[in-house]
Amino acid sequence: MKMNDKQRLIFLLAFLFAAVAVLLPELALARPGGGHSYSGGGGGGGYSGGGSSSGDGLLFDLIIILLMELPPQVSIPLVLVILVVYYLKHKRRAQDTQTISSGLTRSNMVRQIDTLENSMRRLRERDPNFSKTLFLDFSYSLFHQFYHHAGRPEFKNLRPFLSPRVYDEALKGANNNRVQEVVIGGITLVKLHAQGGQDLAEVEFEANYTLVNPAGSAVRILSTERWTLARQEGILSQEPQKMQKLACPNCGATANFADSGECQHCGTFIEAGKSQWALQSRNRLKQESLNVQGLAHYAPEVGTNWPTLKHPDLPRHIEALASAHGSSAGAFQSAFEAQVAQPVFMELYKAWSGNQWQDIRHLVSDRLYEAYSFWMQAYQAGGLRNKLEDIRIKQVEIVQVETDRFYEAVTARIFAQCKDFVVDRQGKKVGGNDRQDRFFSEYWTFVRRSSVEKMNVDLKSCPNCGAPNDKMGQAAECGYCGSKVSTGEFSWILAYIVQDEAYKG
Ligand SMILES: [Zn+2]
Ligand SMILES: [Zn+2]
Repeated sequence: MKMNDKQRLIFLLAFLFAAVAVLLPELALARPGGGHSYSGGGGGGGYSGGGSSSGDGLLFDLIIILLMELPPQVSIPLVLVILVVYYLKHKRRAQDTQTISSGLTRSNMVRQIDTLENSMRRLRERDPNFSKTLFLDFSYSLFHQFYHHAGRPEFKNLRPFLSPRVYDEALKGANNNRVQEVVIGGITLVKLHAQGGQDLAEVEFEANYTLVNPAGSAVRILSTERWTLARQEGILSQEPQKMQKLACPNCGATANFADSGECQHCGTFIEAGKSQWALQSRNRLKQESLNVQGLAHYAPEVGTNWPTLKHPDLPRHIEALASAHGSSAGAFQSAFEAQVAQPVFMELYKAWSGNQWQDIRHLVSDRLYEAYSFWMQAYQAGGLRNKLEDIRIKQVEIVQVETDRFYEAVTARIFAQCKDFVVDRQGKKVGGNDRQDRFFSEYWTFVRRSSVEKMNVDLKSCPNCGAPNDKMGQAAECGYCGSKVSTGEFSWILAYIVQDEAYKG
């Protein structure tokens, strides 16, 4: 059957409609902590992958088939009905996401914070060494190396950290594809519980990596996964040095194990889950190909006006932390805002906007540095630059304070405004607005070792030796004193940036 003019017109309209519907969700925000969602703790930020999702593609195919195969008096009304239903469904989906953080579900979130905290308290009664900060550091290393070493001989070094089933499956599933440039944006401890003689911890990762096939063609994958880590109930968490990297739980040497699971350094056979957490299962929640085009597009800021999600016991926690350092809650709070949150915020955005990310290497965790380096390179590769001008902080609100035997963590919601826009190589504005301020807020989490007493952050120097911060390298190891400064050993460091819509406490 040949298409007549009317059919052609409808075909064109359908095409445009489908194209708009498919492309809309792709619009991304700028700003390092902005829509790219890698800051987000497991939640979806504004950046939503690339390529059309398969559902939309199917719909599009169906419309074409209907138009081609059926007489116009049947196909056209049918297609219109399909498009209206599709539109309404999408609209509702957009509204659903809005209501997730309404007052009602916020109280659920507070309840969830409480539940996790109660289970953490119960775990600490048996294991006073448990530190959420260190546990997430360990999970981060494990995830990173799991992907990085997949299909390579070094994978055997992970044997003590993987259950036999996960290890065997990974070996069986290995193929000639290689994984490169693993970037972990979000990492959240979701659940902790004990079951069948084991401690279980569920961690959600939001990550992306490049998959290269033997022919050399590459695709960037965006993946959200939930991992369950397990260990024998009743064991103590390892000390910080053995949690901040994958190390032999016996001697502390960097993980280097024989096929049989024996440490090459001390010769001890390490059985998975007997002295350290081991991956028991992994569940892929979402996977899509990531298209870094569209960096110049902007979507509206979500959640800036939402009520602040505060920990129900916040005043008591601030009080306890302040008094542990011989201070009062009020004095601690204002010092933290003036000497930590505000200066680091300004310095970070200055470095981002000026394309000088290396300048803040000593102020942030490894994970945060890598995640934003990735975005900065993506802008550069596209000949783009995200500029933030006239940035001003409107308000800093402390929302959560967590302490454990080794670490202290303080989360503050920071409200700010700036002119946020994207320019190309010639300096021409290609996205955003360079005349009007954009208002936004973000949840920033800072951590430090509990033994650190000084409050202020050294913006331009090494927090250990005081030398200039010009030799920090990629790993934040000071070129003057050799110390690794990005773990909070000497000073507050910024560990997480989470957007309003992704923050869950
Ligand atoms: Zn060893
Ligand atoms: Zn130094």
